[in-house]
Amino acid sequence: MKLAHRVKPHIAALRPYEPGKPAEQLERELGIAGVLKLASNENPLGPSPRAVEAIRKAAEEVHLYPDGSCHALRRALAARLGVSERALVFGTGSDEILELVAKSFLAPGDQAVHAWPSFAMYPIVIRGMGAEAVAVPLDARAVHDLEAMLAAVGERTRVVFLCNPNNPTGTSVGAEALERFARALPEDVVLVIDEAYVEYARRPDFPDSLALVRKRASTLVLRTFSKIYGLAGLRVGYGIGGEELVSYLERARHPFTVSLPAQRAALAALDDREHLERSRRVNAEGAAYLERELGALGLEVWPTDANFLLVRVRPGIADALLREGIIVRPMEGFGLAGHIRVTIGTPEQNRRLVEAVRRLWEGAP
Ligand SMILES: *Cc1c(COP(=O)(O)O)cnc(C)c1O
Repeated sequence: MKLAHRVKPHIAALRPYEPGKPAEQLERELGIAGVLKLASNENPLGPSPRAVEAIRKAAEEVHLYPDGSCHALRRALAARLGVSERALVFGTGSDEILELVAKSFLAPGDQAVHAWPSFAMYPIVIRGMGAEAVAVPLDARAVHDLEAMLAAVGERTRVVFLCNPNNPTGTSVGAEALERFARALPEDVVLVIDEAYVEYARRPDFPDSLALVRKRASTLVLRTFSKIYGLAGLRVGYGIGGEELVSYLERARHPFTVSLPAQRAALAALDDREHLERSRRVNAEGAAYLERELGALGLEVWPTDANFLLVRVRPGIADALLREGIIVRPMEGFGLAGHIRVTIGTPEQNRRLVEAVRRLWEGAP
């Protein structure tokens, strides 16, 4: 009450991001063990054993501040991606880099364009700066409507957020469409291509976004160690962009964002190609299994380029699954009533999900 007239109105108007319910919380609520969480697109295989070993070793050094420039990780990633070290910016998850983009480029009166349904953090970081979030509906196939997004770009547009593959639909845009879009976008509009799930993408014409950065320097590609690399709990993500663009984000950031264990673990995870390949394979097989089994129940399942599936069920199924000890993401908040987003798990987890859905589906009136 004392502060209601002091807090910035655009902050007071925000609704906090709703994360997936933690498994421990549901276990406490239900008084059961063995809750299965398929709600936050985490890697069901866990982190690379090499990353775990690196974290163990790093534990001895946590009295030291981390390297604020992420030097070793920066060098390794620059070499891996074939980009300059100055093209990279690191953050405590790519979430932080979204925030840095907003902080650097958005002020009251500005606009930023994003699709909807898409990643729920975009409108939060945009509005958090007092700017206006312009949401453009996905097309009928739940794919980014790039023409409509272009039409939404105006004099006041400073940033466009494009999630590819898109969370929560799993759909993606191809190289040709994205390139056309990027070419048509005014040069001084920052294009953020959020590729949190890029490693899972299977379509052959998936865009080469780094080539796009070379052609259009006001482009920033966001990637993360939270998803396929299985390090969500450590919080490390990065952006690849034109050097001028990255230099502004570097000015806006805190000095020690990525923790010492996180830097070491990310570096180790990057080297474990086998874990990466296994994660990709388990995901592709799980996607095929779930598409087939849920489809056989008569449920509509969207084709996915990510590690989750958008499924049309019936209102109430997410809650019923909770009572079965399975956490999925209800999609009501995205305007997708009766839909859920399920993370693709291990074969055993996927089977448990299918059996629970079948029971609920067939047992229903
Ligand atoms: C998970 C996710 C992120 C953020 O992940 P971090 O853990 O902050 O790196 C960013 N964008 C999308 C679309 C995501 O799904």
